[in-house]
Amino acid sequence: MSGFRRACALVAVLVSAVVAADEIALSPIARAVRATYIHGVTQELAHDLVGADGVPELVELLVDPDFPRRDNVVAFLAHLAPDEASDALLRCLETPPTHPGKIVEDRALLLVPHALGRIAKRGGPRALHALLALSAGDDVVRTRAPWAGPGMRRDLAEQALFGLALSERPEALSRLNETAGSQTSSLATAAAAARDEPRHVAQAYGLSTTESGARTPATIDPEFVGHEAGLDFANHVSLTSPMTDELLDDALAHASRLAGFEDFASDVACCATVRRSGSARTFGTAGDGRDVLNTENELRGVLLDPVARVKVVRLIQRCGGVAPNIIGCSFSPGDGMALVRVPAIDGTLWLHEYGHNAGITQHNPDSRYIMHGTIDTRSAALGFTECAALHDASDPARIDLVELGECSDTDADGQVSVSDNCPDEFNPGQSDVDGDRIGDPCDLCSDADGDGFGRPASDECVAGNVEDCNDSSAEAFPGGLERCDGLDNDCSGAVDDLICSQYEVNVDGEIDGIELTWVGRAFGECSVDPRLEWWGAADYSADGCVDGDDLVLLADAWGCRGDMPVCEDP
Ligand SMILES: [Zn+2]
Repeated sequence: MSGFRRACALVAVLVSAVVAADEIALSPIARAVRATYIHGVTQELAHDLVGADGVPELVELLVDPDFPRRDNVVAFLAHLAPDEASDALLRCLETPPTHPGKIVEDRALLLVPHALGRIAKRGGPRALHALLALSAGDDVVRTRAPWAGPGMRRDLAEQALFGLALSERPEALSRLNETAGSQTSSLATAAAAARDEPRHVAQAYGLSTTESGARTPATIDPEFVGHEAGLDFANHVSLTSPMTDELLDDALAHASRLAGFEDFASDVACCATVRRSGSARTFGTAGDGRDVLNTENELRGVLLDPVARVKVVRLIQRCGGVAPNIIGCSFSPGDGMALVRVPAIDGTLWLHEYGHNAGITQHNPDSRYIMHGTIDTRSAALGFTECAALHDASDPARIDLVELGECSDTDADGQVSVSDNCPDEFNPGQSDVDGDRIGDPCDLCSDADGDGFGRPASDECVAGNVEDCNDSSAEAFPGGLERCDGLDNDCSGAVDDLICSQYEVNVDGEIDGIELTWVGRAFGECSVDPRLEWWGAADYSADGCVDGDDLVLLADAWGCRGDMPVCEDP
């Protein structure tokens, strides 16, 4: 999709030299814009973390095709950008820096009218003009976003009305009044809500909560048994990258492990886990607007939709109040969560929002915690009272917790057993190279003698999930050929348990010159399947050829009869 890069290519070349370096070299602004502000980017966050001086860098990031969080760039610009930056926003709408169907890009583009609305509210004439144009008709949207299909054009036009409502400008309000239909009247209420930042978010940022006083030096969760919460979910039918069963299983297993590991002294290794319940469902219909939650009615309707607890949508514009790029909104406590997808941290996000459903109403002031209002891939801790709330979910959450057995850390690696990917082996890093959710110590084949059989048995071993009786000799394994060598070559449980009759080729009761003659006549014969050959019985070593091996074995058995053991000295 290189066509989308054209307009921004020149700037992108300049920017890539700055930001393509590794994460350590990121500027404070780039780092701030990479985090996930679960309940939206508020004005307070934008001013504290980036500020007006950061706008030029934001504008560069806006067009960098490799920058992973363009949704946040637009959200920060919404609060900080002067009217001149409206042109940059409109250029990206016209020519998206990268494929507009990607989850984050889709969200960034849908947020452009929101950003223009806030710029217009600060007096920006270009932003206001652009919103009035975008809301005027499909032809204008087609010109301003030539890549967009009919559905996206309709979405952008609706977001333009939303942006106008946010602007609270007289011209905007008269446009809203002109536009007939129930959609517009509900959008008009957005203007009032835009005045207050979400209360939920205010709690999220830098304020103290009750959590801090409750911490103890305890490390392992004091609950007697572990509990599992099953989360059922539904994607809006319009999602181009819906949550899948497989993605969610990985994400929730990861989040459960993060919660179940003690990262530092005040972080409790919590025995409460989350998992998928049932398979992915869908809700809504194409074009019903419930994939983009602009109004309180839309938000409540989706939260209360009984199809499943978790509803996955494309964009959330409000959660208690309006903020750009709200990632999740949930009843706290209650039964209902609305989320967008953030692939790198989906699991942490789901656990955070479920925490609100379960009854954790306050955000944790410490940024290392999952219940902090801002999360990234390093958010991994749960506090003592947060963990307790997950074990004892509030009634309004309407969830049946499943008991998981004893809450303990059997292998003393800091990861409680209920979420440990290898509960009986010390593996504090929970490494899982093949990504099958079974930790490497429990998973990779341990085959010290290289005979293909592992000890313990594992599907990862060449010979499959069959245990080797002796992992220090490649001459001993299940199904091996027993020999007179002091080993249990065939893993039968007995050493050198050969009997004479196994060497018979002519069934005359004795191993003698007749067997030697057969070996002699067949000497040098080979076959992929010796059982089908006339000489098959003389291939004592079962290696497909009659050769020196077989002479050696015949010598062991020479002169024996019937059921006599072969390997005993005469
Ligand atoms: Zn929250």
